[in-house]
Amino acid sequence: MKLASVRLSAEGCQRCPLARTHNRVVFGGVDGCRDIAADLMIVGEAPGAEEDAEGMPFVGAAGQKLDVLLAEAGLDRKSAYITNVVKCRPTREREDRPPTNRAPEPSEIAACWNYLESQIVLVRPRVIVALGVTAVARLLGYGYRVGASRGRGHFHGNIPVVATFHPSPLSLHRQPGRRAMVLEDLSLAKRLLDGQEDPLLWAFRSI
Ligand code: URA
Repeated sequence: MKLASVRLSAEGCQRCPLARTHNRVVFGGVDGCRDIAADLMIVGEAPGAEEDAEGMPFVGAAGQKLDVLLAEAGLDRKSAYITNVVKCRPTREREDRPPTNRAPEPSEIAACWNYLESQIVLVRPRVIVALGVTAVARLLGYGYRVGASRGRGHFHGNIPVVATFHPSPLSLHRQPGRRAMVLEDLSLAKRLLDGQEDPLLWAFRSI
């Protein structure tokens, strides 16, 4: 199986009602849309309006924050594989106004489940960063929250997962110090990638 064929099946997917409301399927990739392996995988929640229009993940306000934080942590966005739990934009209709973004429903997450699993298998990341509660719960298990999961050692299969807050401006402003926490978590991902932190020791230290 190849990433390009998983992408093609996601692009033709009719498994949930988002198939009828989205503009572009935001499958994800490295530096735009190349179907290649990467050491670092970053998983967000779902596309927003800008991503839906462009067909690429994290190109709106959250993406701008993410780019700055990645650079500050010494990570290169252009070599990371970036994707989301759900590949089509979930929207809420509003009378006389354009639809707004909303969090994905469990049924939408379930419908998209195999796409992300295939991406993980085929991209073969050495570290996954989960941004926000949807990605954290999807990768670690329901009931896992960001605050309690941050800094602790987790694995998805045998791949270390670093849990952190979502970099949307709303999430970063919700609580003072959140930006610094995301930076700390991305720096941990960098140390794991650079071999400065051993994933197993990291996991066992947090038991
Ligand atoms: N928020 C996400 O979780 N993913 C995106 O692609 C954009 C915003």
